[in-house]
Amino acid sequence: KGQLIVVGTGISVAGQMTLAAKSHIENADIVFMGIMNKVGEHAVKNLNPNSISLDDLYQEGKSRAVTYDQMADRIVQAVSDGHKVCVAFYGHPGVFVTPSHEAIRRVRELGLNAQMLPGVSAEDCLIADLGIDPSRFGCQSYEATQFLFRDYRIDPYMTQIIWQIGLAGEASLSVLDATHNQPGLVMLADILREHYPDNHELIIYEAATLPICEPKIQKILLSELTLAKLTLISTLVVPSLGLPEYRQDRLAKLGLTEQQVI
Ligand code: SAM
Repeated sequence: KGQLIVVGTGISVAGQMTLAAKSHIENADIVFMGIMNKVGEHAVKNLNPNSISLDDLYQEGKSRAVTYDQMADRIVQAVSDGHKVCVAFYGHPGVFVTPSHEAIRRVRELGLNAQMLPGVSAEDCLIADLGIDPSRFGCQSYEATQFLFRDYRIDPYMTQIIWQIGLAGEASLSVLDATHNQPGLVMLADILREHYPDNHELIIYEAATLPICEPKIQKILLSELTLAKLTLISTLVVPSLGLPEYRQDRLAKLGLTEQQVI
C-alpha cells in the first residue's frame, strides 16, 4: 500500500536535515525533491539514488498555482501506484509550501497514510541570525503579494516578517527571478510608510544555504527600500517600533499594576 511522508531538508545543506528526515529519505521507494538548489539535491541523491526533482515543473509564464497543482498530482500518482513516497522540500516542508499540504490532503482523501515532519525554516534561521525572539514584541508573518493585496491589520509594535519580497505584487507568481518587482516594492514601501517613519531601519535577510557561507543581512532605511537588491530567497524584516502601552483597564480588572507584570 502506498504512503507519503513529507520532510524538510533545512535551509543550509550543512547539518540542518533532521535524523528522522534523513532516515525517511533513505528508506523511501521514490523521493521527490523541491529543493531549488543543486547542492541540496545532490545531498538527497546521495541518500537515495531514486530521487527526482520537481523543479522542471516551474516555467517562466506558468502560474505558480498550476505548478503546485502539478507537483501534487505527481506525488499523489506515485503514492496511489503503491509506492512508499518521500517528498523533500528545502526548509520546513509546511512553511509557505502549497503542494506539500495539498498532496497530504489528497493522499488522505484516498484513505492512504500521509504525514509531515517539521524542518528548519528560513524563519528559524532568521531568529537565530538576527537575534529576534518572536515573543519579544509578537510577530506577524505573511507572503509579500498577499500583504499588498489583502486588507491586513498591520501592528507596527510587532515584528513583521514578509516572505517572498522578491515577488511582491506578482499576482500569479509566474516569473522566475526577482528583478521585475519594482511597482510591487513601491506599493509595499507606501504601505509601510503608513505605519513607520521614513528612517525606520529594515532588514533584508538571506540565510546561508551553503556550508562556510555567512548569512546576508542588508540593513536599509524604509525610504530606500525600493533600491534594495532582492532575490527569490530574500525575506524582509520590519523591526518593531517597541512594546505597546499597557492596557490599564485590563490590569485594573485583575487588580494589578504595571510593576507587577513581567
Ligand atoms: N519552506 C521554506 C522555509 O521553510 O523557509 C520557505 C519556502 S517559500 C516558497 C520561499 C520564501 O522563503 C522566499 O521567498 C523567502 O522569503 C524565504 N526563504 C527561502 N530561503 C531563504 C533563505 N535562505 N533566507 C531567507 N529567506 C528565505
